Amino acid sequence: MPDSAGPTPPFHAHPTFPALQDDLAHLHDLLNHNSDWVWEVDAKGRYTYCSAMVMALLGRPPEEVLGKTPFDFMPPAEAARVGEAFGAIVQAARPFSGLVNRNQRPDGSIVVLETSGIPLFDATGQLRGYRGIDRDISALGERVLQLEAVYDTVPVVLCSVDRTGAIVMANQAMAALLQRPLAEVAGLLVAEVMPPAIGQLQGDFARADEDADMRLPSHEFEWKDRWFYATPHVLRDALGAVVGMSMAWIDITARKHAEQQLTDANQRLELYARQDYLTGLYNRRYLDERLAREIARARREGETLAVCMVDVDYFKAYNDRLGHLAGDDCLRAVAQALAEQVTRPGDLVSRYGGEEFVVVLAATDENGARLVANRIRAAVEALGLPHPEAPLGMVTVSAGAVACRPATDLPDVASLLRSADQALYAAKRAGRNRVAAGLDRAA
Ligand code: GH3
Ligand code: MG
Ligand code: MG
Repeated sequence: MPDSAGPTPPFHAHPTFPALQDDLAHLHDLLNHNSDWVWEVDAKGRYTYCSAMVMALLGRPPEEVLGKTPFDFMPPAEAARVGEAFGAIVQAARPFSGLVNRNQRPDGSIVVLETSGIPLFDATGQLRGYRGIDRDISALGERVLQLEAVYDTVPVVLCSVDRTGAIVMANQAMAALLQRPLAEVAGLLVAEVMPPAIGQLQGDFARADEDADMRLPSHEFEWKDRWFYATPHVLRDALGAVVGMSMAWIDITARKHAEQQLTDANQRLELYARQDYLTGLYNRRYLDERLAREIARARREGETLAVCMVDVDYFKAYNDRLGHLAGDDCLRAVAQALAEQVTRPGDLVSRYGGEEFVVVLAATDENGARLVANRIRAAVEALGLPHPEAPLGMVTVSAGAVACRPATDLPDVASLLRSADQALYAAKRAGRNRVAAGLDRAA
């Protein structure tokens, strides 16, 4: 018979039915020396029966426990937590099992109990109390071993740290990440072995101290070329004080790389969408977009804005004579010469279509526009590209430039380009390889 069961409560022989004595004694032995503590409580939760095993579990004899409630032996924070769970059970008058709770013995030590019970009803169907058992699960034994096995093999970095930021417990994934044997991980300081995590950890401790109900948010961080999704969880003692933090880090490097590739691809697509494939200049789509913005800006700032349309002379004949591929090479060379003449940051050079180019010159008046147009014309002539079908024997361009000071909602993109095209037509009519420039009167 184990001593831990404590003294057996006094047993009184049955006065009228001595034949039952043996059976009753036997039952008492069963109750008092069972490793589970058997109890009954009334509707208010006060113990009305208490087997001797309570001495081993709570460190108190039955007579000290009778009349008290289970919550009288729990630390306040635990009593509040378990009280809430038990309140819901009583409310529904339902049986329960596996309710884990922490209790304090008179010597201060903590015993973890697992409580199960069934409701008792009186003849009228009213709840008159509960009957149940408590079991000491302080030494979890087998279960701890199983949990540890899961803890060690899960492909997630797991660890818990104390308030000083020292690692208390870690799993194999953590040891692998730190490139150390598991046995050497406990005691290491997060600040030393994982500097990027310490700021967040300190912040999480501060948040947990401030608000007991706070659920710490997950976050992402980068360390040694790897990305992690971190989920912190506060560890509190039986009295509710923050004693540490458990952390789970999932490696999301692959996802991050995929995201980065997607971002790069989007940027490339955006670039393609605004670029002319043949010359590398901006395309017409982007010109329309930018020109609308430049018109609005010029109006806002009271600036002049100039647009210059450039067209290769006798280009159809060039193609017809030298072939389309030579024509493409010629367009690339002309585009390059154009771009070299337009150097101010706010300016824009685009291929408008075919052998036509449009240059937008911000904060530029009629004279400035003529100057740039002439520079472009001269630069193309200076290339000295042979053109067997042209009067001069080489590739030239004509240009029409207009400047305006947008004062109203006009001009819009289309009307400004139309004006530049009219100026270009005038330059062509005047003999080609020349520039026509003017103020856009329509503006
Ligand atoms: P003008 O001096 O009056 O400008 O005469 P032009 O022959 O240059 O003008 P026209 O509009 O009659 O011909 C333009 C030619 O440009 C038509 C086509 O053969 C050529 N062209 C248009 N786009 C391309 C292109 O992407 N590559 C090549 N190689 N040729 C093109
Ligand atoms: Mg043309
Ligand atoms: Mg042409």
